Amino acid sequence: MYIDQELCKKCLDCIPVCPMGAIRLQKKIVTIDYETCVECGVCYRFEICPEGAIKQVDEIPYPRIIRAVFSDPVQRHEATGVQGRGTEEMKTNDVTNLFQRGKVGFSIELGRPVGGAYLRDLEKVLKKVTSMGVEFAGDNPVYHLITDHTTGALRPEILGEKVLSAIVEVLVPEQQAMDFIREMKRFLNSELDCVVTMSVISRADSEGGSRFMEQLRRHGESIYPNGKVNIGMALVGEES
Ligand code: SF4
Ligand code: SF4
Repeated sequence: MYIDQELCKKCLDCIPVCPMGAIRLQKKIVTIDYETCVECGVCYRFEICPEGAIKQVDEIPYPRIIRAVFSDPVQRHEATGVQGRGTEEMKTNDVTNLFQRGKVGFSIELGRPVGGAYLRDLEKVLKKVTSMGVEFAGDNPVYHLITDHTTGALRPEILGEKVLSAIVEVLVPEQQAMDFIREMKRFLNSELDCVVTMSVISRADSEGGSRFMEQLRRHGESIYPNGKVNIGMALVGEES
């Protein structure tokens, strides 16, 4: 994304629109900071500029295009065919049926508006969960970025790219899940320098309760139960 200086009238309307704070007035010129911009497309798509001065290049070059794939909700991820961040996420379990009884699902989301996340931090998380021997959710764009599945390493040329957010999704046997939480909390708090949200999914029992939720409570974890279902997707997965 860039601003055509010939057209810009410096009205500053575009500055509050950017979720990353990448549009700035510097030395009386309104510019987009190339490093901070994650190519989310918000400033361009909403036609905020009365002069049409905000423009998109014909083709975002590789590896910068990775920013758009993980930040622009209308971009479709090549590997998964899903728009946005490329994953239907755990809340679509009624369709994917990925998280079954006996397993606990975790999503570890790096980045938020304003801060974002560098893929070098994502690689740290991928290496950590790989070293713990957990199972990755395969239908996730982050999984498709991994070049070495024995270490969790990403392509070196993409490590300096910044995205709005990226989500790692893994499955852990229920009996190992508390150890996983303890170790990941220690790791995320000490090794990462960006906002991280870790969420847990487990199947409810026939009474609507959850054995794992009780376990979390016993271990003193604060729980904010949240039933998320993508209503209208029609398909119901069969539990094996
Ligand atoms: S593409 Fe997104 S991050 Fe980049 S300047 Fe526009 S609104 Fe900001
Ligand atoms: S909205 Fe358009 S004219 Fe106004 S400062 Fe931004 S780029 Fe310039």
